[in-house]
Parts: sequence; C-alpha cells; structure tokens
Amino acid sequence: MEAVGNIGLNALQYDSVSRLYDVCFEATMKDLSGPVDNLRKYRSKTLMFHFNDLTMDKTTGHAVVHFVVPSASGDKNYDVYIEFIPPQGTLFSMAQGPMTPAKKIGLLRSCDVKVFCTCPDFNWSGMKYNLKHIYDSYLSGYESIDGVPSGGEDIPPNVRDPHHQNRVCKHVLAAFSAVMTNWMRIIKAAKEYRVPANAPTPTEETPIEQTVEETPTVAPDTNPVPDENNSEDENGI
Ligand SMILES: [Zn+2]
Repeated sequence: MEAVGNIGLNALQYDSVSRLYDVCFEATMKDLSGPVDNLRKYRSKTLMFHFNDLTMDKTTGHAVVHFVVPSASGDKNYDVYIEFIPPQGTLFSMAQGPMTPAKKIGLLRSCDVKVFCTCPDFNWSGMKYNLKHIYDSYLSGYESIDGVPSGGEDIPPNVRDPHHQNRVCKHVLAAFSAVMTNWMRIIKAAKEYRVPANAPTPTEETPIEQTVEETPTVAPDTNPVPDENNSEDENGI
C-alpha cells in the first residue's frame, strides 16, 4: 500500500487518522450529512416524513424539531429529533422580528445541530456512539413516539464502523431535507412558541463572527413528492 501524507502512513492508516482529527464540536446539518454513504443517501430520498412538532430542550433552552419518519417497510414509525443551536441566542429568540425568507433559511443552515433517531441503524451502526463521543452532536434524553427510549449499549462500533465515519442514519438525513422544505413552518412554530419564564438561558458561544448565509433561491414550503418506487430495504429499517 502506497504511503500518503508526510508521516509515512499507508492510505488506510492515513484515512483513519484524518477521520479521528476531523472533529466537529457541534456540527451543522451540512457537516453531518456530508460523509453519509451513497446507499443511505439514496434510501433517504424514498422516505416520507412529517414535521410533527417543535418543543424546547428543558436542559438547554434550545428548540427541538421533531419529525416522524415511517420506516421503509411502512410498518412502523421512527422519531427524529433535531436540536437547533444558533450562533447566538436560541431559535425562539432568533425567529422574532421581521426576516426575509432567505434569512430564515440561512438561520436554520447556520445552526449547529444535535440529533437523535429511534431506529436500530442509528443505535447499532455507530452513529449514536460517534455523535456522542466524537462529534458532540448527540441529543440525549429523547424517546420514540410510543415512549420507548432507543435501547442498546454505549459501545464503540469496532466492527461496523471502526473509522467512525457514520454520523447520521437515512431518517436523520431525510429530516435534514425536510427542515429545508418546512423552513416556514419551523420558523413560525419557533416564533409562536411560548418559552416558559424559567427556561434556561443558553450559554453564549465564543463570539466568532459568523455570517448568516443568504440564499437567493427560496425552497417552497411543501413536502416533496414521495418517490413511488420505494426501494426494498434489506434491514427493514
Ligand atoms: Zn434512523
């Protein structure tokens, strides 16, 4: 195997080391969805999803968006939760006041996110472990719509994902797309959410200048037309 980089590692070792140093302490939707494998990306496109509700993480004061995603086999639902952490304040405070649609979309894109899914893939393919221990983007304390917390042990995915590449399952990926098509509903829900008087005030991030991305094109606030040809999923997830 050919040595790459400047410390004489072989390609596999180099890849492994670079992965370990590719640390995202709280990552945006883009950071988390970038490295997803093509099969999961493809399968995520066949999923239908529903924006369910927007709540508050009682420990942080940040907004949590909840999607219900039917499994590919259609016999059960998974719950995806995404906590939005804007560069300043909370989504509730940032959603107040007049904003252009491009600003609203830019606001959602600029947020760091913490994610959680109740599917078995999220639990067993390394996402849960990687998000918790490597990417600091794991949202704890959430459970399925039936009140069942996602089970499983907190063990490193030494067999399924030894290089810690997995970050999100296809349901979370589908929910990221749903955020961008439901931006209007999400911002409206955040704006109208009655934040309790005793809500925690999020600690301010180090004031790094972050520009909110202006997007010239505006996505319509509709759910995408679901793919008619739902692919068979061998995991039944
Ligand atoms: Zn999932």
